Amino acid sequence: MSKVLIVADYLKGQLNSSTARAVACAKDLSPESIEVLVLADDAASLAEAAAKLDGVTKVLTVERPENEHPMAATLAPQIAAAAEQGGHSHVLGPNTTFGKDLMPRVAAKLGVAMVTDIMAVHGPYEFERPIYAGNAVVTVKAPDNQVLVASVRCASYPAVAEGDAAPVEALSLDVELPSHTRFVDLETHGSDRPDLQTAPKVVSGGRGVGSEENFKILFDFADKIGAAVGASRAAVDAGYVPNDMQVGQTGKIIAPELYMCFGISGAIQHLAGIKDAGTIVAVNKDPEAPIFEVADFGLVGDLFKVLPELEEAISK
Ligand code: FAD
Repeated sequence: MSKVLIVADYLKGQLNSSTARAVACAKDLSPESIEVLVLADDAASLAEAAAKLDGVTKVLTVERPENEHPMAATLAPQIAAAAEQGGHSHVLGPNTTFGKDLMPRVAAKLGVAMVTDIMAVHGPYEFERPIYAGNAVVTVKAPDNQVLVASVRCASYPAVAEGDAAPVEALSLDVELPSHTRFVDLETHGSDRPDLQTAPKVVSGGRGVGSEENFKILFDFADKIGAAVGASRAAVDAGYVPNDMQVGQTGKIIAPELYMCFGISGAIQHLAGIKDAGTIVAVNKDPEAPIFEVADFGLVGDLFKVLPELEEAISK
């Protein structure tokens, strides 16, 4: 039977919902146990949140001052040591920026290859994962005689709900941490809007929005309906919005229940980021725009006319 270790993903003292999504993936392995590993300088509240995730059998904490700012270089040796010490068969992390940075290092430390972007589980060592920017899905088999390190494609799994609280155990690891990498600073764009990667509603703008100033009407509309705001790469490259708002192959992969896009043509690299979105609504003035091939609701029109009309209709 499998014994799964999941690395907790968190920021500013809050557990990221990607951890709950990784737990959903782990449950599909029908394992003997699912343990969540929290590496922090003060792990209490994070551990408490992780312990409540349905399916989690135990939370392991490693508290050290070096874990104050999660950095792949210092976390990876601790995770590898915890997996070896605990005899885990699987080590999973989310495919967020955090997981993408971290999990390959964990695999290297354990001397194994890793499986990236698990989107479905066929068996303990057989998975589906996307290739060619999500245009094809491949089934891969990993060796069953070594620990399996993998990242979970968060957009493919709903977060597990809360269940009974699992026990929390402090772990003592005899591991020397590297000193070649040190934390300097973390710059984030503070915003009260919902997080783009986990929001149930997302409003996105493309080159058709035309300018940074024009994006304001998208922000206003998003605020009205409680949505996060995303953008195409063309809009990011043109400097209308910062690049952490980019949706797509080289941006964020998202799975909102509602995705509304304005002035986005629907290039394949953009669609790669919204493959798992529930309902797609597209507004574009070109009736031939490829976005209409994937949209559930399409409106041919000028976004600057349509958006105020939509806002008015919603206000009513
Ligand atoms: P355009 O293709 O220029 O489309 C603008 C659309 O706006 C048009 O359809 C036009 O009809 C419409 N429009 C204009 N004015 C209005 C108006 N007033 N009202 C309504 N509609 C209007 N792209 C991504 O988005 N994300 C990625 O992650 C990404 N990764 C890439 C990776 C690689 C390796 C490469 C090569 C490309 C990548 N791209 C990505 C770029 C992608 O190929 C497209 O160039 C990009 O998505 C186009 O953005 P857009 O739809 O905003 O712009």
